[in-house]
Amino acid sequence: MTGPTPATPISVRICPNCDGFASAAISSGPRDAHGHLPTLTVDCPVCDGHGTVLAPAAQLTGGRA
Ligand SMILES: [Zn+2]
Repeated sequence: MTGPTPATPISVRICPNCDGFASAAISSGPRDAHGHLPTLTVDCPVCDGHGTVLAPAAQLTGGRA
């Protein structure tokens, strides 16, 4: 070994499915007696709520597929 191993660059891209907005709150009914709006938080199914996806290997190797 000749020194510390350089960190491997992890190439991530903004998720093309949700454009980085990975979670959405969806109202699930009318306001209750206290005025609270019940919501469901739904994550993007492609990136599982992270907003980013790993770059395809083809793009890491210069775009050749
Ligand atoms: Zn996404």
